[in-house]
Amino acid sequence: MFSRTIATRFATRAAPAVRAAPALRLVGQRAYATAKNAPLAEKLSVNGDRLWDDIHYTAQWSAPSPGGVSRLCADENDKKARDWFKEQVLALGADYKVNATGTQFALFAGEDNSIPPIAMGSHLDTVATGGRFDGPLGVIGGLEVVRSMKEQGIKPRAPIVLINWTNEEGARFFPLLGSSIVYAGRSTVEQAHAATSNDASAATMGSELAKIGYVGDGPNTFEEFPISGHFEIHVEQNTDLEKAGKPVGWVEGWEGMTWYDVHLEGEDGHANTYNMKRRKDALVGASKIVVELEKLAYDHNGRTTVTGLHSRPWGACNIQSKTKTTFCLMHKDGAALEKMGESIMEKVQSIAWAHGLDVKTERTVHLLPGNFWPEAIDCVKRACGDKGMGSRTLTGHDSTMTTTLVPTAMVFARARDGVSHSPKEWTDKEDCAESALVLGRAVLNFDEYLKQKA
Ligand SMILES: [Zn+2]
Repeated sequence: MFSRTIATRFATRAAPAVRAAPALRLVGQRAYATAKNAPLAEKLSVNGDRLWDDIHYTAQWSAPSPGGVSRLCADENDKKARDWFKEQVLALGADYKVNATGTQFALFAGEDNSIPPIAMGSHLDTVATGGRFDGPLGVIGGLEVVRSMKEQGIKPRAPIVLINWTNEEGARFFPLLGSSIVYAGRSTVEQAHAATSNDASAATMGSELAKIGYVGDGPNTFEEFPISGHFEIHVEQNTDLEKAGKPVGWVEGWEGMTWYDVHLEGEDGHANTYNMKRRKDALVGASKIVVELEKLAYDHNGRTTVTGLHSRPWGACNIQSKTKTTFCLMHKDGAALEKMGESIMEKVQSIAWAHGLDVKTERTVHLLPGNFWPEAIDCVKRACGDKGMGSRTLTGHDSTMTTTLVPTAMVFARARDGVSHSPKEWTDKEDCAESALVLGRAVLNFDEYLKQKA
């Protein structure tokens, strides 16, 4: 179905234009008359035991991390999880493809396969200190939806595609959203393959994906393989649902975030003998930037994190002459985020000047705050019913890329204490099941919405 659909689309319609930055897209407030689920959505139920078992079964593919999951993009455990995913979807009769950035697509026929599929996606790879839910719940929750639909004889009008996106976290290779960013037309396969390893080794995302056999010939971009919508379950990573006593939520939008690399270059010299006043120590400069960044968050009521600090040369007797500091700034307001960026860049310049350092700065990722699509949010909201509430995500997801293209919304699952990227990450079994049910119902609501629109 993949190649046939793609060929037809190439022949019959022009490539859809890639939308402007999400923040530029103004989403109007619309009232929705229908509070009920679509008939097919009402019929759906999911198997919470099976979902729970698979979440914990797949957690075995991890570097040692008691209670958690450490499955970095394209490592040997990631390969095992991917192989498992492939096996599961093939058993369900998927038309299966892997693209050049390693993303797995499992396409399931609908009643009318001329309609671009409705996507459910998230990621099976995790951060180094990950939990069992951030990412896997989205993919395995989607798998549970497909299984349940098959068992219950629920066939939507549009085809469904289940997606395991590669390198969402940017944990091993920078930048993050490593494959969905290519799909959204904001980067290229070449750039994604060249993404360098955060451990400063020679490995790239391209070289490591090739090593595990996950550079495929499937579609890389929206133009090659359009979808009509994207839905994703994710753990909340915050405590709004917990405080309100709600197991699930519909996600209205995301906060803004920006990443910078700051390279400082000073002068080499003997660590013991060099005169203090004549030193150009890049690590002293970098350390002052780290301190300024913490202050910046409090001054602007935002959040800041230094996520990497590389310092060279190696050796016990060397003044550190070269550093690379990677950090991110977060704010719910776009203008305030810009201000934080300007403010820290001024500080960087003055610190560099004071220490006689050369400085090079680079803004590597810039995602302004934005909203998901009202028609997609509405589908999730109706699926949540009185069990849910509206919320916002404090970070980026693959959905923040697909939302630049097509109606996209997310489902939140309640997370204990808002903890994520930690082995302590936890979502109860019942809440996982509830979130999968909401995902499936949201997709079926969206299917009905497309039908009404057509
Ligand atoms: Zn995630």
